[in-house]
Amino acid sequence: MTDIDMPQGELVRVVAEEISEAGGRAFWVGGAVRDHFMGREPVDYDIEVHGLQGEQLLEILGHHGKAVKVGKSFANFLLTGVNADWSIPDPPSETPSGGDWTDAVREAALRRDLTINALAVDVLDGSLHDPFDGLEDLERKRLRWCDKETFGRDPLRLLRVMQFIARFEFEIEPELTELCKGLDLSDVTPERIDGEFDKLLLKSSRPSLGIFWLGSMQRLGEWLSPLQRFVVPQLFERLLALDRLAIEAFEDEERELAMLWAVLGAGFKDQKPGDNFIQRARVLKWRNLLIECHDELLKGDENVDYLLKKLAHRLGPDWDLHHLFLLEEALAYGEKHAPPVSLRIRSMELGIIHGPEQELVKSGDLNGITEPGPQMGELLRKAYEMQTREGISDKAEILKRLND
Ligand code: ATP
Ligand code: MG
Repeated sequence: MTDIDMPQGELVRVVAEEISEAGGRAFWVGGAVRDHFMGREPVDYDIEVHGLQGEQLLEILGHHGKAVKVGKSFANFLLTGVNADWSIPDPPSETPSGGDWTDAVREAALRRDLTINALAVDVLDGSLHDPFDGLEDLERKRLRWCDKETFGRDPLRLLRVMQFIARFEFEIEPELTELCKGLDLSDVTPERIDGEFDKLLLKSSRPSLGIFWLGSMQRLGEWLSPLQRFVVPQLFERLLALDRLAIEAFEDEERELAMLWAVLGAGFKDQKPGDNFIQRARVLKWRNLLIECHDELLKGDENVDYLLKKLAHRLGPDWDLHHLFLLEEALAYGEKHAPPVSLRIRSMELGIIHGPEQELVKSGDLNGITEPGPQMGELLRKAYEMQTREGISDKAEILKRLND
């Protein structure tokens, strides 16, 4: 008996009782069951309901809270307060006459991608259904398709395999790679592609493995084309840098994604890896800012303090020099050259590692000198440049020179 534990598990069991009374059956399925057997804490839960139609399930769920249908088809539902996706297989399964759900569960599992993702646990009695020996594959650490014939029906599965390779570091059946090689993803939406790359970058401490696998199939060009310009040792260096950064902790997902895309895209001027599918505007904007500031850092300046202060200002308020150094340190690690530790230390001495120097001259100070507008912006920029380039710390002097 397997007990899938989740915070709202008691409520799920109560709902499963009612499903059972109505002639159906509820099963824990998908990643949560896999994670349970891997000893990992699941992030989200999936429950598959057999023997009922969508309308019936929606009605039952409605007895226990606010229930909503997600998506267009009558197959997926959410119940407020429960972190689970409730689904009906397509087509819905019949209630078996002898009460044995094995065939129904197997039939539905045929539509899943990998054997390790096709385990099902009966919510009420905890019995395990493992139609494709997924448990053995978990133990042997290998990725296998559930069904060769149906695997290619959703070509996105190629990218699912990519992120599972990187997250779990499992073996891949050579035939699976061979099958993936032939999948055509040109009709898969950028949103879905982005979702898998998000998981690759956010959930793996060695995302390079997934990218190497794409490379081994000669398929880098579809999603990460600028990386194809690298000769092999350069690609190794860059992916080593990616892994170095992937183990770093960031404040939130979007920051982590921006940093990881920045490490992949550093040095590329126009098209950067991921440009053809990255969805989140903030990730793109931040990635570009980080790459531009990194370019400037590498270009250098005779006046190091000015360079650092200027970059700190440009990075703020969302980013700071600490992040920029993390990026360069990861790249340096990959390329095996010394990271700019002295610049990091200098930024700490200047007190700007976690945020820029405050502007001495603010718009209020320019009231008598000019009207708000582009001219004021230009004066403010000049004032800050005097302050940071020449190290003038006297506001009156800056104002005097602006006036001259
Ligand atoms: P994660 O830990 O990333 O959530 P997961 O396997 O749970 O991994 P989900 O996207 O949450 O991924 O999907 C839940 C389950 O639905 C999967 O375990 C798998 O059985 C099935 N599934 C999801 N996407 C596909 C797909 N494209 N093709 C086949 N089965 C899929
Ligand atoms: Mg999941």
